[in-house]
Amino acid sequence: MLENLISQQNIDAVRKAVENGFRFVVLAHKNPDGDATGSTLALCHYLRSIGKEAVVVLPNAFPAFLAWMPGTDDVLLYDADKEKCDNAIAEADVLFCLDFNVLSRTGDVSAALAASPATRVLIDHHPQPSDEFDILISHPEACSTCELVFRVIAALGGTVSLSYEMAQCIYTGMMTDTGAFAYASTRKDVYLIIAELLDKGVDKDWIYRKVFYNFSVTRMRLWGYAMYDKLKVYNKYNAALITLSHSELMRFYASKGDTEGLVNQPLQIKGTRFSCFLREEQPGKINVSLRSVDDFPCNAVAAEFFNGGGHKNASGGEVYGTMEMAVERFRQALQKYKAELTE
Ligand code: 5GP
Ligand code: MN
Repeated sequence: MLENLISQQNIDAVRKAVENGFRFVVLAHKNPDGDATGSTLALCHYLRSIGKEAVVVLPNAFPAFLAWMPGTDDVLLYDADKEKCDNAIAEADVLFCLDFNVLSRTGDVSAALAASPATRVLIDHHPQPSDEFDILISHPEACSTCELVFRVIAALGGTVSLSYEMAQCIYTGMMTDTGAFAYASTRKDVYLIIAELLDKGVDKDWIYRKVFYNFSVTRMRLWGYAMYDKLKVYNKYNAALITLSHSELMRFYASKGDTEGLVNQPLQIKGTRFSCFLREEQPGKINVSLRSVDDFPCNAVAAEFFNGGGHKNASGGEVYGTMEMAVERFRQALQKYKAELTE
């Protein structure tokens, strides 16, 4: 038996929105990861299975290692087909907002979302949701948004309504958001839910290989280069930094997603509590990924130094400027948080 997470009041509100609505759009954040992609696809499959018109709208493409997921062919991408996406959003009765806590995380989609008269339902596990939603299912204690989507589907239709396709999508998001159950996954319920998903026929080892054993040779070499040449360890602060400039990424033919997970690597160094990866997405724009262990709140660093946010142990942000500027901010963050990092 699962513990109760989502309140009955919220379940009743979602049930009403689902029953009364005809057209649904299911959305996630920009640069969608396994959890964003998996949760939107799973919920879309469910809505279609009960006869609703539903479509997934993502701000931009999901990484290629997720392309095998059932339903990806029908996903609308805002940066590729703005008009179609705008129409779907304008005509929707309900907008399901998954895996983000503030509309601005959807980038260019956010204006259309804000303008729509539809009911906005948030299902998310990031802390501090904004007040832009009509129904707020926000649980930072959940391992992933996929866990919450499982709970919503189970509450609305029972586990009998969960298909093999939905189970595959949900498993993928739970797996990717926990580093294959290495963190944020201590609660017993995570495994009770996995047991249900396995019951639906999910082949967890196959999904693991699809997602994680997916490197191209150039990606492998890029990671080797990053480890050998670009990793800087700040022993005094129990911290580590990797930077990759735009030209370095070009040199290794790095495609979107090729650096996904790289920021976690330095945490394997004994004693390291905080890791930062700075990726020059385009000249003048640095994407920031932060990871930490235990109680060190890297989301506080993201908010204070990198115009971002996220979870306590996994957060991110951005810097408009040079790599040197971004590195300088990282150094400032180390100074400011020295006590917390070394306590
Ligand atoms: P990643 O390092 O994988 O890009 O991001 C890790 C987590 O940090 C994401 O799941 C998200 O919660 C958060 N995050 C990343 N970038 C931003 C940002 O620019 N703003 C906010 N608020 N959160 C971010
Ligand atoms: Mn997530």
